[in-house]
Amino acid sequence: MSAVTPAPPVQDVPEDHRTGPARSPSVSAAFSGTAFAADIGGTWVRMRTGGQDEPVERTPSPSRLRHPDRSVPRLRADLVDLLCDRVPAGARAALSFGAAIDHLTGTVYGSAPLWGDETAAYDVAADLRRRRPDVTWHLVNDVTAALLDFAATHAGPGIRRVAYLTVSSGIALRTADLEQRRIPVDDLGLQGEAGHLPVPLTDPGSDVLAGLPCECGARGHLASIASGPGLARVAERLGLSRPARVADWLPGALAADDPGARRLLELCAAPVAHLLRTMWCLDPHLDLIGIGGGVAEGLAGPYAAEIRRRLAAATSYADRGRDDVWLDERLMFCTPGQVDALRGAQRVADWLPGITR
Ligand SMILES: [Zn+2]
Repeated sequence: MSAVTPAPPVQDVPEDHRTGPARSPSVSAAFSGTAFAADIGGTWVRMRTGGQDEPVERTPSPSRLRHPDRSVPRLRADLVDLLCDRVPAGARAALSFGAAIDHLTGTVYGSAPLWGDETAAYDVAADLRRRRPDVTWHLVNDVTAALLDFAATHAGPGIRRVAYLTVSSGIALRTADLEQRRIPVDDLGLQGEAGHLPVPLTDPGSDVLAGLPCECGARGHLASIASGPGLARVAERLGLSRPARVADWLPGALAADDPGARRLLELCAAPVAHLLRTMWCLDPHLDLIGIGGGVAEGLAGPYAAEIRRRLAAATSYADRGRDDVWLDERLMFCTPGQVDALRGAQRVADWLPGITR
């Protein structure tokens, strides 16, 4: 998480809060000024000035996705220009980025939709601070922002820890401790980049998936199989005859009970179910998990049913299978629009003291 201090610095806010576990509760009062939030994705930048009820401005992203011909330095400069143009004077701005980001500093490690295969980390927060020192800038990853929105809208009283898992063009997970109001991160300011963990292929017949590439350049990752692009790779490995876009074909094929589509769903849902099972094994106080993102929301009912079917099966004394009542209370499959990273970004300031390593 970045807490880029404005000039002059806000009193009591550590210049570098890598070293401080938390700020005093009174600090949030120091963040006066107009609220500004932006959700920055590869396709659109959505911005809102003021409260949750104010209108949203949506503008095409200055991204590699939209401008394959533009250089990365130019795209980054265009983004900084756009944000600095829109943010009101003296505002407290919260930005949600569709990229792996150091939550402690605001450094962006990389984003294929925004900047292609550029691997050099980019300290966007520093650029924003240089250009607009009057503004207090906070940066989070869009999954973190989505978690904040999901937690605010769906975690009722008594929920101790809550997680949000996105299964989309990539796969990532964030967990918040509601009792301590914390989102712990590691030394790199990261948490839950689970899409880039090696995935065990233990299901009968799943060895067909061995060595599938991942967007990060490695092989055999969760995202190699279970993300949107992963779905297409698995379909190819299975030799399924299908239209170019698997995501468009699959829902209809599942509805028609196509055996190839069924197998594809099983193989792609299995490692996600395994991840959930592991999360609950390691953290019995993880009371609520939301699942969203384009793959989960697009496949909807059949995807939810397959994940639940797998979680219902006992695999050992440590994992005795979970019945419908248990799963109904703890696992929620989100519908499109139900979780909003822009709304979540607007809640970031409340969580700042708790986003620490
Ligand atoms: Zn990977």
